[in-house]
Amino acid sequence: MFEALADRLEGAWKKLRGQDKISESNVQEALREVRRALLEADANLQVVKDFVAEVQKQALGAEVIAGVNPGQQFIKIVYDELVSVMGDTNVPLAHADVAPTIVLMAGLQGTGKTTATAKLALHLRKQERSAMLVATDVYRPAAIDQLVTLGKQIGVPVFEMGSDADPVEIARQGVEQAKADGIDTVIIDTAGRLQIDQAMMAELARIKQTVQPHEVLLVVDAMTGQEAANLTRTFHEEIGITGAILTKMDGDTRGGAALSVRRISGQPIKFIGVGEKVEALQPFYPDRMASRILG
Ligand code: GDP
Repeated sequence: MFEALADRLEGAWKKLRGQDKISESNVQEALREVRRALLEADANLQVVKDFVAEVQKQALGAEVIAGVNPGQQFIKIVYDELVSVMGDTNVPLAHADVAPTIVLMAGLQGTGKTTATAKLALHLRKQERSAMLVATDVYRPAAIDQLVTLGKQIGVPVFEMGSDADPVEIARQGVEQAKADGIDTVIIDTAGRLQIDQAMMAELARIKQTVQPHEVLLVVDAMTGQEAANLTRTFHEEIGITGAILTKMDGDTRGGAALSVRRISGQPIKFIGVGEKVEALQPFYPDRMASRILG
């Protein structure tokens, strides 16, 4: 495991070898390599700095275990800290005591939000939880059509009121409909813009205020690298998210965005998107992601 990082640490290891403690002077080079690896994995700079400082604190003075290569020990410290920062275990989707569970999807256009909405519904159906989708992106009629098509494909009802209605009202009535139909979970797809703008945020806030969701999931494109950090900060400060879905993890990114999203929001990544198909959704596991980030 971690061949890439292990290779990088080769030089640093030589210095650690034969020492009985990891010390300030012998760990610097190894820390620099960790920093470089995380940045190459697309994690945010400030997040990486904080992370490396934490690893340094833990590594310093750690007794070298007899028979264990200090380099290996150092990698274990890095790996364990990464898993810990990303939340240790998988956090499943909320399930309200009184149905329906209400999930609000948020994110920019093109990130895979609408696809993720359908993927989530299919995931729930596989767990015997009925789902309903609500289409509130009235600014792009194609987005409503896309959700309707996806709903048909996976056999999940889609609530829509066309593109002339008020998104807040659509969301409210969609939830009422889900209640009336005894649906387990209602997932509200919202308008995505190419960039964050005030009107978009204000509308999301109004929908949230009106339907009081159990989950607000931010959909983040893992390929956006550094941008994922700013996006998360803005959405979390202005709307308050309860979790995230990291899409396009089938691409060649090493997934450093996972670290950024978790550190900045403090909220768990619940799922990853691993392809364009509706089946391509997996629960997020911090240990697997840590392995991927470290290469
Ligand atoms: P939205 O504008 O955020 O609602 O984005 P869409 O759901 O329409 O997705 C935008 C594009 O990304 C589409 O071409 C999707 O097929 C694609 N997409 C969505 N999720 C994934 C994913 O996990 N992996 C890959 N490779 N493509 C994805």
